[in-house]
Amino acid sequence: MQASKFSVLHRSSQIAKLAAETFDLAIIGGGITGAGIALDATARGLKVCLIEKNDFASGTSNKSTKLIHGGLRYLKNFEISLVRESGSERAIVHNLAPHLVTPQKMLLPLIEGGTYGKLMTALGLKVYDFLADVKGDDRRKMLDKAETLHKEPLLDKQTVIGGGLYAEYRTDDARLTIEILKKATTLGATIINYCEMTSFNYDSQSKIESLNSKDLNSESIFTIKAKNYVSATGPWVDQVLKKDNSTNKKRLHLTKGVHLVFAFEKLPVKQSIYFDVPDGRMVFAIPRGRVTYVGTTDTDYYGNLDRVVTTKADAKYLLSAVNNMFKTVNLTIDDIESNWAGLRPLIHEDNKSASELSRKDEIFVSDSGLISMAGGKLTGYRKMAYRALDAVLKTYNTEEDKFRFENSTTETMALVNPSLTSNDEVEDYQKYIEKQLSGLGITDIYHSWYLCSFYGKQANIIIEKSKRFNSDSGLENLIRAELWYSVHFEMVNSINDFFIRRTGRLYFDIESIKQYKTIIIKDISEYLNWDTNRINKEEEKLNLALKDATTYYDTDFNKKSNIF
Ligand SMILES: Cc1cc2nc3c(=O)[nH]c(=O)nc-3n(C[C@H](O)[C@H](O)[C@H](O)COP(=O)(O)OP(=O)(O)OC[C@H]3O[C@@H](n4cnc5c(N)ncnc54)[C@H](O)[C@@H]3O)c2cc1C
Repeated sequence: MQASKFSVLHRSSQIAKLAAETFDLAIIGGGITGAGIALDATARGLKVCLIEKNDFASGTSNKSTKLIHGGLRYLKNFEISLVRESGSERAIVHNLAPHLVTPQKMLLPLIEGGTYGKLMTALGLKVYDFLADVKGDDRRKMLDKAETLHKEPLLDKQTVIGGGLYAEYRTDDARLTIEILKKATTLGATIINYCEMTSFNYDSQSKIESLNSKDLNSESIFTIKAKNYVSATGPWVDQVLKKDNSTNKKRLHLTKGVHLVFAFEKLPVKQSIYFDVPDGRMVFAIPRGRVTYVGTTDTDYYGNLDRVVTTKADAKYLLSAVNNMFKTVNLTIDDIESNWAGLRPLIHEDNKSASELSRKDEIFVSDSGLISMAGGKLTGYRKMAYRALDAVLKTYNTEEDKFRFENSTTETMALVNPSLTSNDEVEDYQKYIEKQLSGLGITDIYHSWYLCSFYGKQANIIIEKSKRFNSDSGLENLIRAELWYSVHFEMVNSINDFFIRRTGRLYFDIESIKQYKTIIIKDISEYLNWDTNRINKEEEKLNLALKDATTYYDTDFNKKSNIF
């Protein structure tokens, strides 16, 4: 099977293409925002390229709560249009990739003396359903004490007085980003990771004429020419604006959010829970595969953008929230398996605290023509792309051109082909994988769920490939097949790309990294012809990622600290 265009094996030819051709749109940043814009623009017929300085989804788009949700708590700040938009987007994104965006009932327990009473909760959830046009069985249900405890026996019998059950969706943010980028590539976009935008070049009217990009594999610089330039650089938007000498008045207000991961047995919640903590904030506890994760914090951040870590204070805050809600678990810092910390690239508003800042996205167009997009949510990626393209199309002078590119088709375009089209099909396919895996000696349900929800029907290729490896361990053959797949079809250029963004193992199956890293490093070095120097560097990067996912630092790293 030949590697796709979205493969590191085509890196040189893709970079040559970037340097040789002129594009309608050059996008800087390969998180969910850049990915969404790339897909929409390419599907409309624009000639698009995208560069990402690290790996795709290595910024905020791999550090979210991993929910495609309406943002119930934004109702409290009366952000009605945001709730309405993300509420209705949930069902659309679910239909585009039902294996990857799966329905998830959320329980909101009501606690004696808690922030929200029965009436407020019932009303809030009703408005939420109304705004998102939720239908049928998915509409919220109010539960009495017994029903709530039946749904979640881990809640405290002494203090629970009832609950609200409502519909949300769970996803994997990095995989969603990667699938969108893959889809954009199949439609014709030229997309590459490990290429950093380093500076802009201007014409005589001070408009951006081209950008310089550094290939971080070879250290060589090349130039990209396009009609329009979009910065979808999340927390780095201000840095890119600075490189453009922009005088824009808007600036970012970064807040940090941390999640902690526990083995499921340590925090065995039967279902996803959204609970309030004594300081008035809300925290999620979400079971997923073999773990339960908990988050998030929301604190102002002034540290290093390229190395965001979890501090002891972050961990303590979340541990105390969980122990306070689930009285019997008594979790300590030693019980945490893994963690992640990410930055919300919010738009600054005077006199507003981290939690009060709007999650709305905004676009600003600089005098140079640079279009910057920040704020927003994973959930709203399609609508953000609409707005970015509205700004791009304003630069087209003729009505004919505007008309040509006006219509977006992303609302009905399946993200993965061959696609699964309903929950029933996903369930049947997972059962089919279960049978296939059991023939290979893998009998746990976790791996069939994992393959189905991460890859959809692409799992067939991985399972078939695994039969070509000849270890006695079916799991080792499977992970080697995954690596082969991700090198040939998912632009893996580093061990961390594989263990973190393509497979989520750093957060959700950290033991498997320790178990298989030697064979994975051996295989990837052979596929990509790495010398000892490169292998050592990659190992160092992996060790640093493992360290940060399991260490609770005294403080955040400052802006000047060294990273690899
Ligand atoms: C803790 C937390 C929880 C969240 N939970 C949810 C949730 O459950 N649901 C939801 O819908 N939303 C959630 N969000 C919001 C959502 O995750 C973000 O809005 C979204 O991921 C931002 O994506 P982005 O593409 O704008 O930024 P990023 O993902 O950060 O992408 C920007 C990219 O630009 C690249 N870049 C920067 N500079 C350059 C350069 N010079 N050249 C090339 N590339 C460059 C970076 O490497 C990076 O990959 C959460 C956010 C946080 C922090």
